[in-house]
Amino acid sequence: MDREFLSPLFLGAYGENDEVLEKLVVEFLRDHVYWRRNFHPDDIPRVSTASQYSPQYLDFVARMKQELHGLSAKLKRSVPFFHPRYLGHMASDLLLPGLIAQLVTTLYNPNNISYEAAPVTVDMELSVGLQLARMLGFSAEETDPEGAFGHLTSGGTVANYESLWVARSLRFYPLALKAASERTGFAFEGVGPEGKAIAEYSDWELFNLSADEIVALRQNCLAQLKNGLTAEGADAVRIAIAGERVEALGLAEFFHKRPGLHSPVVMVPVTAHYSWEKAMKLLGLGSHQLIAIPCKDMRLDPDALDAQIRHCAHHGIPILAVVGVLGSTEFGTLDPLHQIIAIRERWAAEGVHFQVHVDAAWGGYLVSAFREPDGSLAPRQAVAEGHRYFPSERVHATMAALAQVDSVTIDPHKLGYLPYGAGAYVCRDRRWMDFVSQTAAYVFDPTRYSAKSFRDKFKGLGQFILEGSKAGAAAAAAYVTHRVIPLDRSGFGRIVDETVVATERLHDAVAGLQKRLAGKARVAIPFEPDCNLICLAINPVGNFSAVRANRFMRAVFEHLAVDTNRPVQSKEFFGSYTSVPRAILSDAEATRLCTELGLASETWALSPRDPLVQADALFILRHTLMNPWLAEGDVAEAYLDYLAKCVLAELEDSEEFQY
Ligand SMILES: *Cc1c(COP(=O)(O)O)cnc(C)c1O
Repeated sequence: MDREFLSPLFLGAYGENDEVLEKLVVEFLRDHVYWRRNFHPDDIPRVSTASQYSPQYLDFVARMKQELHGLSAKLKRSVPFFHPRYLGHMASDLLLPGLIAQLVTTLYNPNNISYEAAPVTVDMELSVGLQLARMLGFSAEETDPEGAFGHLTSGGTVANYESLWVARSLRFYPLALKAASERTGFAFEGVGPEGKAIAEYSDWELFNLSADEIVALRQNCLAQLKNGLTAEGADAVRIAIAGERVEALGLAEFFHKRPGLHSPVVMVPVTAHYSWEKAMKLLGLGSHQLIAIPCKDMRLDPDALDAQIRHCAHHGIPILAVVGVLGSTEFGTLDPLHQIIAIRERWAAEGVHFQVHVDAAWGGYLVSAFREPDGSLAPRQAVAEGHRYFPSERVHATMAALAQVDSVTIDPHKLGYLPYGAGAYVCRDRRWMDFVSQTAAYVFDPTRYSAKSFRDKFKGLGQFILEGSKAGAAAAAAYVTHRVIPLDRSGFGRIVDETVVATERLHDAVAGLQKRLAGKARVAIPFEPDCNLICLAINPVGNFSAVRANRFMRAVFEHLAVDTNRPVQSKEFFGSYTSVPRAILSDAEATRLCTELGLASETWALSPRDPLVQADALFILRHTLMNPWLAEGDVAEAYLDYLAKCVLAELEDSEEFQY
C-alpha cells in the first residue's frame, strides 16, 4: 500500500483533504475576481452597491439560495462513487488537481472549439493529446510531421465515432482521386505504390492502400496539380476531388457509382461496447456491416479474426477497420493486440489493408503502469513487482503492441479519475487530420500547410473534430493532472497498481467465500481478470436451472443496487451486474461454467424455446475495483463477507431454494 503517495490525491472518502480543496478553490476564486477587476478597473461598476440592497436583488438571491438548497438536498441521493465501498461501475473519486483545475477554469469559461475562444486551453488540449500519445507509445514530438495527434471528446462513445469517421475519410479518398481524374481528364501519372496512373488501379486496390500510401498519394497528386496546371485549372480539379468524396456524395451515391464495390465492414470482438453499433448507424455504414468476431474467454480470438478477414478478402469486401478492446466494459478483459498487429502485417503483405483502432476507453490508463519515465516499456518482471498474477505475458505483449496500432479511444473520465465529460481520440499520424479538415479542399495549399507548426495548424481545433463548442475546463483538468501525476510508472502507474492489487486480493478471497457457502451455494469467477475488473457468478446448491439462478442472482444483487428510495447511508456496498449471453461463449466455455455452478447447460440456451425453462443469458455480479484505497485493509474481505450474508439471507427467504 502506497499510503504516502495516495494520501493527497483525492478529496477522500471521509473528505479528509477538505482543507486543501477549500483553500485552493477559494484562493483561485479570489484570483479570478481580481483578474476581472484589473480589466479596466477605472470603468464604473455596472452593479451598483446600492442596488445590492434593493428588494428585487435580495429577492433574487433568496430564490437562488432556496433552489440551490433544494439541489444540494437532492444530490444527497447521488451514488457515493468516491468510497471504497463502491465497487460498481467505472467511476470513483476525482483527482484533486483535475477537480480544482476544472472548477477554476470554468470561471473563465473557455470554449475549446478554437484558439480565438480559448487561447490557453486549446494549447493544453493539444498537449493532453501528446501526453496520452506518449503514454501509448506513439511519436509525440511536436516537430515530427508524421507524429501523433490527440484531442478530448465528450467521452469514449464520440471518440469511437471519430475513429470510424477518420478511417472512412482516409480509406475512401483514393477512390475520389480516381473519379476526379476521370471526370476532369487530368491523369495523375506515376502515383501509388506501383507508380502508375491513378486510373490504372482498381477500386479494390485503391481502397487497400496502406495509410502511409494514401497520405503519400494525396500529397503527390496535389503537388502534380500545383505544378502541372494554372491556379484556376488546379482549383477546378481540387473542386472535382472534393465533389467525388464520400463526404460530398453520401454513401448511397458513392456506391451507386461503383456497382462492383461492396459496402465496407468493421470488425469488433463480441465484447465490444454498444457505441460501435451506434457508430455504424450514425455514419451510414449500417449496423449489418459491423461484424462481431468470436472471443476466447472474452478475449478476441485471433484465429476467428483471421478467418473473417480471409472471407472478406476472398469475396472482395473492403475492411474499413478492425477494433481491439483494451478493457471490455463488461468483463475488463484485454484483447491480444500483438496478435491483431501480426494479423494486420500478414494481410498487408497480401494487399489487404485496414485501420486498427483500439477501444481503450477503460484500459488506456493501464499502460501507465508499463511506461518508464524515459518513455521506454518496462519489462514484465518490473511491472509484476507487488502483484500475484499481473501482468500475464499476453497482457504485457498487448501493451507493447499499442505503439503499432493506428488510433485509440481513451477516457480520462474513467481510469483517469477526472470529471465527466472527458474522453479522448488519439491517432498515430497527424496527417490524417487533413482528410477530415473542414477547410474546403480548394483553398487548401499543402505546401503552406506543412510549413505550419503543430500548434499553429491545430489552433482551429473545431475544424478537425466531430464536436463543436466544448469545455476548455476539461482540457485544463486533464493537462494539470497529467503534469502533477505523470502518465508513467512514477505517477499514474502507481494508482493503477493499487487497483490491480485490490482485484487480486478480491480474487484470492473468493476461495474463502466458496468455503463459507459450501453446501449452500456455488461461487465461480466466470472469466479470470486481466486487470481491475472481476465478475462473480453464484448459484444455490441443488438448482440446475439457469432461469432460476438468474432470479436468485437478481435478488442478491438488489442488496448491492442503487436504490433512490432509500438513503445511501443504509447501503453497505454497491456493485453492478452484467448478463453473459450464451451466444458469445463457445460450447466448451459454457459447459465449463455450468459445471462449476452446477447448472444444466441445456437451460442456458442460444435461442430459448420457453423463457420459463431456458435463459439466453446468465446474470452475474460485476465489480470495478478502481478506488485505489480498496487495496488497503480488508475491504475486499468485508465485501465478500457481506455478499455471503446476502446470499444466505436470500436462500432463507426464498422457498424456491429450500432443498
Ligand atoms: C465506457 C466505454 C465506452 C464509452 O465511453 P463513454 O465515455 O461512456 O462514452 C466505449 N468503449 C468501452 C470499452 C468503454 O468501456
